[in-house]
Amino acid sequence: MERNTGQLKDALGRVIENLRISITDRCNFRCVYCMPAEGLQWLPKADLLTFEEIESLASSFVRLGVKKIRLTGGEPLVRADLPKLVERLARIDGLEDLSLTTNGLGLAKIAPALSEAGLDRVNISLDSLVRAVFEKIARRDALDEVLCGIESAACYFEGPLKINTVLVRGINDGEILSFSELARREGVEVRFIEFMPLDAQKDWKADQLITGKEIHDTISQKYPLKKDPHQDPHAPSQDWVFADGQGGKIGFIDPVSAPFCESCNRVRITSDGKLRTCLFSVGETNLKSILRDPSNEGDPNQKLEEVIRKAVWNKEPGHLISQKGFIHASRSMSQIGG
Ligand code: SAM
Ligand code: SF4
Repeated sequence: MERNTGQLKDALGRVIENLRISITDRCNFRCVYCMPAEGLQWLPKADLLTFEEIESLASSFVRLGVKKIRLTGGEPLVRADLPKLVERLARIDGLEDLSLTTNGLGLAKIAPALSEAGLDRVNISLDSLVRAVFEKIARRDALDEVLCGIESAACYFEGPLKINTVLVRGINDGEILSFSELARREGVEVRFIEFMPLDAQKDWKADQLITGKEIHDTISQKYPLKKDPHQDPHAPSQDWVFADGQGGKIGFIDPVSAPFCESCNRVRITSDGKLRTCLFSVGETNLKSILRDPSNEGDPNQKLEEVIRKAVWNKEPGHLISQKGFIHASRSMSQIGG
């Protein structure tokens, strides 16, 4: 059997270079495809990883070969003192890219401090350009504020800015062309993410899903697309540019209709310190308990790294959404960190 040393990789040979760290499970939106209107039972604050613990885990992963870290949640901007965490992570030797996924609320205000602290990029989620539809999805009347956040992010962070959009049939699927026009006008990349069965309510139904192909067909009837010549082979999105040379890009993240598990190079840490090797994992590895175990003798980093290697080695080959035998993930998207 191949020895599990050197690069951080799994038994299928996938090399893990990408880590998502959830820094809170709380959120100030209640997106219909993510959680119920009343919210969820939030984790007690004492269960959340401290900044010191997050830094320690991030450093271990970078020593093992992770090059990119993305902070997420819940809504990461609700975590107090976020720029201080960014500052700690940005100085980790060997980390090449530090980014954040946010719903954009409050971003305009905090963007300068995040940029100053060393954050490289932000992705912003935006599901509608129509105020009433936005409110129907997020259950918050916040479109204008999110648009201000997007403007501010374009000034403070390296481009091109990525906008994440989830379409749900019958709610916002009439806006495919408006989002394409946003990409063309502003030179941003709009990435359509297929609605996955990761909503806390477990209401997901296949017929609510708008596939990437359906979106692609709608866009290309008006604005022909061609494959992006600079496609990143490990990106979850398949990227396209406009054939007429207009700026902006369209990305498709199609985990349901076209799973990309074979090239997946990412793992996740939840806000309470559990390592998840797949979004759809049914099991987790408790890293926080290692960090907090007073009886740990010797070098805690060595123990951590052994445990991480072992968990990653056993990364799931893939998920089975829409197939017989599909088992719901043990937590919902906002509790995992999307
Ligand atoms: N709150 C931040 C935000 O919304 O950008 C970060 C966390 S959120 C869980 C990360 C991403 O997951 C967002 O782009 C969101 O649209 C997406 N998401 C949430 N639930 C989803 C679902 N059931 N299917 C597909 N994407 C989902
Ligand atoms: Fe909050 Fe993001 Fe989930 Fe929307 S998708 S409810 S913004 S965590």
